[in-house]
Amino acid sequence: MSRTQSESLFKTAQSHFVGGVNSPVRAFKGVGGSPVFAASGNGAEVIDVDHHRYIDYVLSWGPLILGHAHPEVITAVQAAVAQGTSFGMPTAAENRLAENVRRFFPELEKLRFVNSGTEATMSALRLARGFTGRDKIVKFVGCYHGHADSLLVAAGSGLATFGAPSSPGVTAGTAADTLTLPFNDCEALRTAFQKYGQDLAAVILEIVPCNMGLVFPDPEFLSLLQDQCGSYGTLLIADEVLTGLRASRGGAYHRFGVRPDLVALGKVVGGGFPLAAYGGRKDIMAKLSPEGAVYQAGTLSGNPIAATAGAITLDILLRDDPFATLELKATQLAQALRQHATAHNIPLWAGAVGSLFGFAFREGPARNFVDMQAADHERYAKFFWACLEGGVYLAPSGYEVGFVSTAHDDDKLAHTTKVFGDAFAAL
Ligand code: PLP
Repeated sequence: MSRTQSESLFKTAQSHFVGGVNSPVRAFKGVGGSPVFAASGNGAEVIDVDHHRYIDYVLSWGPLILGHAHPEVITAVQAAVAQGTSFGMPTAAENRLAENVRRFFPELEKLRFVNSGTEATMSALRLARGFTGRDKIVKFVGCYHGHADSLLVAAGSGLATFGAPSSPGVTAGTAADTLTLPFNDCEALRTAFQKYGQDLAAVILEIVPCNMGLVFPDPEFLSLLQDQCGSYGTLLIADEVLTGLRASRGGAYHRFGVRPDLVALGKVVGGGFPLAAYGGRKDIMAKLSPEGAVYQAGTLSGNPIAATAGAITLDILLRDDPFATLELKATQLAQALRQHATAHNIPLWAGAVGSLFGFAFREGPARNFVDMQAADHERYAKFFWACLEGGVYLAPSGYEVGFVSTAHDDDKLAHTTKVFGDAFAAL
């Protein structure tokens, strides 16, 4: 399959942008080779600039739960654009989206809309610090919460020691307030709370981590986390930017029985536009400006076009209730991967949660980032390219998950299963 237009555009892009892209994972470093440039999308398919069609399991990294260019979303957005694109004044569209968000997330007593998942988690952490009067936070290795300084922190060298910057430009002082722990490790969590519980403003986590590949949480780990946060007055922040309306008909926290104090949302709730949110208990949210002293603002926050796209997307999800069907599709894909791997005698773990599926070339499920690092990522790269050649677009990195949309019908799934089989045969 020749991709000369993509290659030529990438060359030009490299003269404009660092690494030729505006977000690192798009550069295909995880799988090698040159990225595919998108020209358009239609339902489950993305069409590249060389006119190749791919069944898309990236879906803009999760937002497009209704597939590309859903006609009702496009019509609503076109009507909204015609009325003006931004006002810097409140609009009814924000209320419409908020009402829909709270139908799925009724625990969120108050909300704030922002422009990206990064802003949502960063602002939730600032609010947690302002509310508790404490500085320190806990995150888990391999969970991604966007690129705010205090979240770009590598684990310290011992059990429960504070971290070091994982990116140049993050100060040692900032990193020193972030304790980075292994996921699913009750002992590390207990030690951290014993040593620092009184100083911890918040623990932030993906309840089902999806940014180190797919990792399932141990129930005892989640219940210990809930107990320790409760005992020490530490806020529990569920980062549902990726999992919100994907891991369940609500959040991963609904599915796994966690009661967070604050929740970060993004991706699906923005209907394919730059919109994210955070929210939670009203007494905590009341500390936020203009009611409280914790400052956070945005010129384009709650933008009417993005709010309209999010509101109509959630209208459709409320009306059609596709969650069980989506889960069945993701489960079928994981099953197909397992069957082909077994038939070809290739070690592989695959699983699904809601409309998300994950797989790794290793024996058995990974419990944390170190397990996932030990998977065969070179094999993932080969598998990725074999699928791409067959017309199936997977994430260009073995540390991601796959996303299914309502537009992925039986034919698309059957074709994908066949392409998976050919890809395993080629390995
Ligand atoms: N949190 C999670 C769980 C994410 O997966 C992401 C992005 O993939 C973010 C936060 C950051 O969101 P954004 O890329 O919109 O800044």
